[in-house]
Amino acid sequence: MSGLMAGKRGLIMGLANHMSLAWGIAQKLHEHGAELAFSYQGDALEKRVRPLAAQVGSDFLIDCDVSDMAALDAAFATLKDRWETIDFVVHAIGFSDKNELRGRFVDTSLDNFLMTMNISVYSFVAVAQRAAAMMPAYDAETGTGGGSMITLTYLGAERVIPHYNVMGVAKSALETAVKYLAVDLGRDNIRVNAVSAGPIKTLAASGIGDFRYIMKWNEYNAPLKRNVTIEDVGGAGLYLLSDLASGVTGETHHVDAGYHVVGMKAEDAPDI
Ligand code: NAD
Repeated sequence: MSGLMAGKRGLIMGLANHMSLAWGIAQKLHEHGAELAFSYQGDALEKRVRPLAAQVGSDFLIDCDVSDMAALDAAFATLKDRWETIDFVVHAIGFSDKNELRGRFVDTSLDNFLMTMNISVYSFVAVAQRAAAMMPAYDAETGTGGGSMITLTYLGAERVIPHYNVMGVAKSALETAVKYLAVDLGRDNIRVNAVSAGPIKTLAASGIGDFRYIMKWNEYNAPLKRNVTIEDVGGAGLYLLSDLASGVTGETHHVDAGYHVVGMKAEDAPDI
């Protein structure tokens, strides 16, 4: 253990099971000495989250639906009851009606557009407001205080990926929110960044049409000729949340085996 996160405490939001991106990040943070709390959505998930949390030395679990501002207030009040301050937050939450994660974007309904933006974008702003209020005050003389927050995004924010549809529009807004939050919170030495992960098979991803095709396409065409893992994402999360990234904010950091730099199908990529 390098102790990169020794003495730091934080909240992980969006752990559903052992395949979650949040799990890759939580494990890396734990390996490096962080103390973790977890928020989960509803009783059904608690059964899955509790044993995973125990594996990384945590019994601090908080039920929170991020579309409910009262639930968010209550979650942060519970956090504050036990910990006076926190140093980091991981926001690994997104949601849309899976019926609109296939077919054409042009057919997006108003209700699902608003729900997707609420759960996948505004929730990060709402979390940032409450988390920033719990981060230690910054002392410019000693350079102490502040904190770090990350959210998870995808290339569908920057370019059109079939079936990603309204979620791509939400991720664009999320990446822009990261920049605005970075400016607002920077004076308090609070850094705000996004990890843009390549496709990984998770519960949320299974709702996206033709996801297996997207994974194959990435594997064949990414510079590293493979898909990324939750461990790859965890390493980047650790970097952004630790002091190693002390000069980094407002950034969308790609962890996608390099896929985002590619402009055309690789010459050696098989047909799929
Ligand atoms: P996941 O299903 O493991 O996690 C999604 C989480 O969002 C779940 O824990 C779920 O409970 C939570 N959530 C949804 N609605 C919520 C609500 N109203 N309140 C509280 N929590 C809620 O899937 P994942 O792939 O690990 O997703 C985590 C993040 O990573 C998402 O933002 C996703 O868009 C992003 N991401 C995923 C991939 C991928 O390929 N899997 C790639 C890039 C980005």
